[in-house]
Amino acid sequence: MWTNFCQALSASIDLFLPPVCLLCGQLLPPGSNPRAFCATCRLAMRPLGKSNCSRCAQPFPASLSQHLCVTCLKRPRTFTKVYAACSYQDRVKDAIQQLKYRNQINLAQPLGQLLSESVATSTVRFETDCIVPVPLHSTRLKERGYNQALEIARPLARDLGVPIATGLLTRTLKTPAQQGLTAAERKNNLRNAFTLGKSISARNILLVDDVMTTGETVRECCRVLLQGSIKEVRVAVIGRA
Ligand SMILES: [Zn+2]
Ligand SMILES: [Zn+2]
Repeated sequence: MWTNFCQALSASIDLFLPPVCLLCGQLLPPGSNPRAFCATCRLAMRPLGKSNCSRCAQPFPASLSQHLCVTCLKRPRTFTKVYAACSYQDRVKDAIQQLKYRNQINLAQPLGQLLSESVATSTVRFETDCIVPVPLHSTRLKERGYNQALEIARPLARDLGVPIATGLLTRTLKTPAQQGLTAAERKNNLRNAFTLGKSISARNILLVDDVMTTGETVRECCRVLLQGSIKEVRVAVIGRA
């Protein structure tokens, strides 16, 4: 009886307020999840090609097989693997920028779902104890009102059945945005930006961020995390540039 009532109510809501794609506004088929992307947007969110760095997922030209990129060969090892849901372009880029800079927090749920599906279908399995979202500095958190990395981590944590540890890593230094800086400037910009917070018993961690470009942010987070009792850090991002 109650189920029938809920189905009827949902059908009536669909009739007057049909679900639309959160990104482009196109009508979704009746009965669709109201917090979703349409098929056109979803198709434009392309997964990474098969040819990329086996550690940091940096894309290579299609003809090259999987190996370590120059950066991973040169730099000390921090994370052991990057799970990337999509290539950072087209509608993925648009969705992430709307989430970060235009207060579209409702995009976090379907983006987080993409990430969760990507981790679940990866052939490289990882037993993680908890998820650590890349933290924002408290001033930026106040300005934005939410940490987009934490919001996209929520569906992933729910699907993996692991907790989110928000107090483990803190961003103590307010640094200029990484966007527009050279690789060397990005590295310097982040030096000592993060500190290790409360200690936890977790050994294996999945670090979550929205985008990975040169990877300096996640490298610096991992460097700090590995100073504690953490044994292994892997990284999960929505967009890989
Ligand atoms: Zn759409
Ligand atoms: Zn690499």
